[in-house]
Amino acid sequence: MTNLNPFKIAQRQLDEAAEKLQLDIAAHSLLREPLREYVFTFPVRMDDGFVKVFKGYRVQYNDARGPCKGGIRFHPDETIDTVRALAAWMTWKCAMVDIPLGGGKGGVTCDPRLLSESELERLARGYMRSANRFISDDIDVPAPDVFTTPQIMAWMMDEYEVIRGRHQPGIITGKPLELGGSAGRGDATARGGIFTVREASKMLDINLKGATAAVQGHGNVGQFAHQLAIDLLGMKVVAVSDVKGGIYNPDGLDFEETLAHRLETGYVVNMKGTRSISNKELLEMDVDVLFPSALENMITEKNADNIKAKIVAELANGPTTPEADNILYEKGIYVIPDFLCNAGGVTVSYFEQVQNSYGYYWTSEVVHQRLDEKMTKAYRSVHEMGQKHKIHNRLAAYMVAVSRVAEAMKLRGWV
Ligand code: GLU
Repeated sequence: MTNLNPFKIAQRQLDEAAEKLQLDIAAHSLLREPLREYVFTFPVRMDDGFVKVFKGYRVQYNDARGPCKGGIRFHPDETIDTVRALAAWMTWKCAMVDIPLGGGKGGVTCDPRLLSESELERLARGYMRSANRFISDDIDVPAPDVFTTPQIMAWMMDEYEVIRGRHQPGIITGKPLELGGSAGRGDATARGGIFTVREASKMLDINLKGATAAVQGHGNVGQFAHQLAIDLLGMKVVAVSDVKGGIYNPDGLDFEETLAHRLETGYVVNMKGTRSISNKELLEMDVDVLFPSALENMITEKNADNIKAKIVAELANGPTTPEADNILYEKGIYVIPDFLCNAGGVTVSYFEQVQNSYGYYWTSEVVHQRLDEKMTKAYRSVHEMGQKHKIHNRLAAYMVAVSRVAEAMKLRGWV
């Protein structure tokens, strides 16, 4: 049975790239492990007056290229190994789009869907009360991830500023616009991914106008993939899903209608004029583009052979296992790997930090155009590397990103 521990998977992916790059042993060993990790326990008073105790994590994986950067996830299945894997992937992601940042990630093991608004605020502030001592715009900068929002970033920023007694908006990104957030951050992950799909379609000679897409997940990322696949690429999104299951309509699912239904009922299922499908069916659907936009390990050796999409655009982190990667490659399915496809979020987070540091804000047009330049350039570097070495795109992306981080460590004299 394959080991689905995300950190073990991240290490295996790195090992393969290190071998191909003939990376020296010291650089390889250093890149296999996080530089620093913090695990903390903190109390939160619940609405009923009782105190509940939570586990928080922050992993600073590698900062050779700049301060660590990466989101904070609130999820019941969060473990130190998930955070380690996500922090490693952030390291490759920032190098991939060539921004001067390293990789980090944080999380809390909790189910935010069971918390009231005020409990969520006290949880966010409690996290920052513990984490503030190792967070700073020149050390490590958090952001949103699964189940964390601009409002949560605002509470965390406020807590930090209360502790420090001064304004420091650049210590966290993904903030609301009113508090120093960037235009275009909300849909940046999906938009960046859409740009890579647009570029891939040129390479593969696929006409996306009227072509079909399926989106797994309708959260921070998936909902915007649904919207932008329609608005920017003219695609027909025939299926979307969330934790409760999916919906299908061969004529396409209207974005506004789906969003309104989800906001009203909490989930996408049971929308008028749609057929219910399972998440498994959604992943195996015969569509032009599949957007896994949920969690890790969705495409494994068990279902990879059933995937029928022409392009798999990984907006989630770690949705495909190494075994599945090989199967997809042999089947001729073109994968746009996670830390390339979903790098738009951190790219606009970086733009947000830049704007915070000089207190002058860009229009959404400027953000979109600069994001497009970054994503297009990153996409081309991966595609070319893949073609040159006749390898799948994930390994190609690893080769580009890992060599950049290794070079920075070498220049610093670490290895
Ligand atoms: N959580 C996002 C990711 O996985 C964004 C990170 C950031 O903006 O720092 O890429």
